Amino acid sequence: MDRTLADDLSRLPELLQAARDVAAREAAGLAGRPVAAPGRSPGRAPLPAGGAGADGALARFAERWAPGFSGSAGPRYLGFVTGGATPASVAGDWLTSVFDQNLSGAGGSWAQELERETVVWLRELFGLGEAHSGAFVTGATVSNTVGLAIGREWAGERLGVDVSREGAAALGPLEVLSGSPHSSVAKAMSVLGLGRDRLRRVPLLPGNREAVDVAALEAALTERAGRPVIVVANAGTVNTVDFDDLRAIAALKERYDFWLHVDGAFGAFAALSPEHAALVDGLDAADSVCVDLHKWLNVPYDAAVQFTRRRDLQVAVFHNASPYLGLPEGEPDFLHLTPENSRRLRALPAWFSLVAYGRAGHREIVERNVALARRLGAGVEALPGLRLLAPVRLNVVCFTLAEDPSQERVAGLARAVTASGEAYMTPTVYGGVPGLRAAFSNWRTTEADTERVLRALAAASG
Ligand SMILES: *Cc1c(COP(=O)(O)O)cnc(C)c1O
Repeated sequence: MDRTLADDLSRLPELLQAARDVAAREAAGLAGRPVAAPGRSPGRAPLPAGGAGADGALARFAERWAPGFSGSAGPRYLGFVTGGATPASVAGDWLTSVFDQNLSGAGGSWAQELERETVVWLRELFGLGEAHSGAFVTGATVSNTVGLAIGREWAGERLGVDVSREGAAALGPLEVLSGSPHSSVAKAMSVLGLGRDRLRRVPLLPGNREAVDVAALEAALTERAGRPVIVVANAGTVNTVDFDDLRAIAALKERYDFWLHVDGAFGAFAALSPEHAALVDGLDAADSVCVDLHKWLNVPYDAAVQFTRRRDLQVAVFHNASPYLGLPEGEPDFLHLTPENSRRLRALPAWFSLVAYGRAGHREIVERNVALARRLGAGVEALPGLRLLAPVRLNVVCFTLAEDPSQERVAGLARAVTASGEAYMTPTVYGGVPGLRAAFSNWRTTEADTERVLRALAAASG
């Protein structure tokens, strides 16, 4: 054994303790550090010829790189839809690395059963019935990709084509209909050989809405009658968190033949709040569902879950048949369900958080985030230099400059907020108007944080 490696092995508990100390310091200082990284990153160092040991690596990381990492796990990082990591989920994440299980299959471990237990808990959390089975994947993009891949296989079933064997080309054009799809849907279509250009935008409801007009969707389905299509319903758009009417869309399945995929990346968490649960009524009727976990469940990157009613088709797409692994029988191992073969025990952080805080704890995070978004929305409206681009429907505030909201001026506002170190928000264009989004999905965010964000916005826009 290499001498440094042998030395590290003999001091393993001590080294883990040292890493723990750094982690504890970082976690404790998170709310105080600048929200976005200042300055330029250091130049690249050459590949180390000899090893510095884990101590040396820790010291070098703390010196060269850690100071430039963002406070994205902290309470005022409101860009994209960014969750933090609950204390229990961090502990679960560490132990995932320590146990280092390969979740491709059972492999002499109970870990696969733990993932199955966690998937069943999540299914219940989001109000899905037992017809749905699921698996952990790395994020909502992959979850959407898996859902559309199963939908593609379903289209093959309808047309008498075995897509898994014959390829997507054998299907002919397969269209995907959606009102306000997330950009990852087009990416998934590219990956799956469906083609980005086959994404058809269905008109939205009038009156500053991002939800699909179900009558227009029905008209689009009528036009395509006789050919299978995929419908992507959106349960929480990223700009204004608008929800398609899932119940009405699902009802169309009685008259039209389509695969219904619901992108509930973060919006599915509305199910946790009695006040908002109606927004995801009908979710269970979907053929496949995408939910991100590194957003509103507040587990560390990267984790999402995918659900489907057609695990048989999922296995047709993803089965990994090889002479020594054999074809799946009974409840399939995870390597037959997801793009990955070897898989991290990504379920453990979620399992820890669900055990630690339960449904009630996670409901509180969702409800607090929604209340804080409302508070920021009201504050923005009261500022003379800013105006809302849409009502605050759930946990995102979409706003712009009251006067002359040009791309350049809005980018200037974003830069000023970032430079203050107080908050971080990401730009968007909504209804043709450049604006900013403040998305609340971190378990740490408080009212005091929201007031600080508001003061930073007042200073930057005044
Ligand atoms: C974030 C998001 C995605 C993509 O999620 P990743 O985890 O970044 O892959 C897809 N759809 C919606 C609605 C999202 O909010």
